[in-house]
Amino acid sequence: MKSVVYSSPFVPAEWIAAHGVRPMRLRPDPAAALPSTGPLMGVCPYARAFTSEAGTSAGAVIFTTTCDQMRRAAEWLSLEGTTPVFLMNVPATWQTPAAARLYRDELQRLGRFLVALGGAEPSRDRLAATMETYDARRRLLRGDLAAMTARGASEAIARFDLGEEPGNGGPPPGTAAPLMTLRGGSPDPPRRNAASSQSLTPAGAAGRETRRAKTETLRSPTSHVEEPAAHKTAASGAAVAVIGGPLARGDGRLFDALEKAGGRVALDGTESGPRTFPAPFDRRRLRDDPLMELVDAYFGTIPDAFRRPDTLLYQWLSRELAASAARGIIVWRYVWCDMWAAAAARLREATALPVLDLDVTGDASEFGRAANRIQAFMEVLK
Ligand code: SF4
Repeated sequence: MKSVVYSSPFVPAEWIAAHGVRPMRLRPDPAAALPSTGPLMGVCPYARAFTSEAGTSAGAVIFTTTCDQMRRAAEWLSLEGTTPVFLMNVPATWQTPAAARLYRDELQRLGRFLVALGGAEPSRDRLAATMETYDARRRLLRGDLAAMTARGASEAIARFDLGEEPGNGGPPPGTAAPLMTLRGGSPDPPRRNAASSQSLTPAGAAGRETRRAKTETLRSPTSHVEEPAAHKTAASGAAVAVIGGPLARGDGRLFDALEKAGGRVALDGTESGPRTFPAPFDRRRLRDDPLMELVDAYFGTIPDAFRRPDTLLYQWLSRELAASAARGIIVWRYVWCDMWAAAAARLREATALPVLDLDVTGDASEFGRAANRIQAFMEVLK
């Protein structure tokens, strides 16, 4: 079975898996960044590392337009011509039916790319069953996270994103479909070129927009009440929220450095944490129109700094910061990540909390500088 690698939380693993292709959301190793992966200066080290590793580890790579660095990285890898590349357009605006339709259309274009790779277009029932399976697995994962340290929770999410089972490795209870797409073989293979959901017409989409508006309060990020974003374990030390971009492999040292400095991560708001989980699926709507339910759960609810307006992010922060009782915020970002640099400035204005804008290079030998800055920040909070 072919695998595709991606980094953005706006790429639904269920959609890939339903096509019979293995989805792998990768945390790249910064040390693996090849010198040939674009220019050094001005290039986000995370984007460099992801491009280097993804280009050699999978049958295809999916980038998204959620930041300019990743858009350019897709161009570099395409120019190399060694790995099929798909650049998925994720609109920054999200409040209009047209934006949701564009995201849906991009999922369908991604589907055609997956079929060209050797996958098969899923029937509506197969898509719904795959989504139910992932939903159950995520529910199990959320339950597990509550009992873990921040670092343990982050690593559990990383394993989940690569396709490992949460919990003790067994299939989630009550799932309607086998985890065929993550295990290499299915007793119920998808039907190639099966007709896709008939409800994907513009008229159907318009009806769903009305439905979505009615249920918006249920599907807003504030409905993620079951997510254990505020970690209750390892309860000593000053509570700190870590907000920002993605974590690469080895970035768990951030959590260690914070604890060593007398703090604890009370809220993991990085791109790699629970903040970017999709909303739980609505069972009835999932059966009625699984693709639009996928659009709603991902595009309609995930809070992020690139979105315009970015109100979802600040609604999420307002709730989660209060729940975590964080006394300060560390903005975790890779150098040349303009998006989170701007968000750091805004966070200072939007919250009454001290903010540390922590830019990192991904170079393990330079992490000492970041650790020193964390130490100094914690002295301020004590
Ligand atoms: S860290 Fe920032 S610049 Fe780098 S890929 Fe992520 S969003 Fe883009």
